[in-house]
Amino acid sequence: MISAKSYAAQDPQTDLAPWNFERREVGPHDVQFDILFCGVCHSDLHQIKNEWFPGIFPMVPGHEIVGRVVKTGNHVKSFKVGDLAATGCLVDSCRECENCKKDLEQYCLNGATGTYNALEQDKKTPTYGGYSNTIVVNEDFVLHLSDKLDLAATAPLLCAGITTYSPLRHWKVRKGHKLAVLGLGGLGHMAVKFGVAFGAEVTVLSTSPSKEKDAKKLGAHHFLVTSDEQQLKAAKGSFHFILDTVSADHDINMYMSLLKTDGVHICVGAPPKPSQIHAFTLLAGRKSLAGSGIGGIAETQEMLDFCAEHNIVSDIEIIDIKDITKSYQRMVKGDVRYRFVIDMATLQ
Ligand code: NAP
Ligand code: ZN
Ligand code: ZN
Repeated sequence: MISAKSYAAQDPQTDLAPWNFERREVGPHDVQFDILFCGVCHSDLHQIKNEWFPGIFPMVPGHEIVGRVVKTGNHVKSFKVGDLAATGCLVDSCRECENCKKDLEQYCLNGATGTYNALEQDKKTPTYGGYSNTIVVNEDFVLHLSDKLDLAATAPLLCAGITTYSPLRHWKVRKGHKLAVLGLGGLGHMAVKFGVAFGAEVTVLSTSPSKEKDAKKLGAHHFLVTSDEQQLKAAKGSFHFILDTVSADHDINMYMSLLKTDGVHICVGAPPKPSQIHAFTLLAGRKSLAGSGIGGIAETQEMLDFCAEHNIVSDIEIIDIKDITKSYQRMVKGDVRYRFVIDMATLQ
């Protein structure tokens, strides 16, 4: 076994703290890479606090993982020692079901294996994520990175990037579309960058007036403060799509009134409590309420290649892993510009 260091939650009540554990030996199809940076996703906090469902503890969060290969199995063809490598939210899936065969491993009908807080395909062995110094992953779930992009700022592409790229591609958001991005956090700021790159007219809907300047710098054409009744009224019926990245409870009915007829409200944010939708929200204007979860491996590689070509990375604040709890507190307050990334050299 390979000894690994990490920051882990021992239970939902206590803060993350150093924890040593073991990773599996590198198998014939595995790649081991040392983790240089790991992004901090709001899903990490939802999960260590059991906000979605009872988790598997100890829990090592982190699914925006980038680093360099230190060992490869005998059968590994696509990576060699020294290569850059990355892993996102998935480390395995059944590979046989209808969805896996369509490159939609995230929707594996037999249960995809998440990078942490999940079980391997043996349905017994827990997985541990990227707040750690090293990881062993089957090569089919390891992504290639361009060395043209800043490595730390590339890490958030592995979740915030693909989670926003995938629905915008699925719904073919492009020139001529008015796209609203609801919530300007980790996912939201990537949605703005992709929406603009795909040619849409992008409006940020935010609870934080202080983010207006940043929104424009990120490329957004318009900015609307959602607590301002006048601004909301003026925007009724104006968007083809709303990409909803909000992490906390919010009234979807109110936001859907901003959609045009046939508009689509796409949930990517995953608040702990269920939402209440009024039938009239949907039937008045033939509107759709939809959702989207991360993205498959092939699409994640496509997104990374697109980012390398168009020079797109995340706007980040690099943190020491010892400051993780403080960073979560700032994230909950919406005070992150726009993704925390852990410098794994600080994990001693
Ligand atoms: P984040 O950085 O904390 O951003 C969330 C943003 O939502 C905040 O910055 C804030 O933006 C807005 N917000 C927060 N509370 C709000 C409220 N009560 N009402 C309205 N807006 C509010 O989080 P993230 O990492 O981007 O993740 C966002 C959500 O997506 C989380 O629930 C996460 O679990 C989920 N997620 C889902 C997937 C998926 O596969 N679908 C993947 C990754 C993450 P403003 O300050 O602009 O209002
Ligand atoms: Zn995530
Ligand atoms: Zn499957």
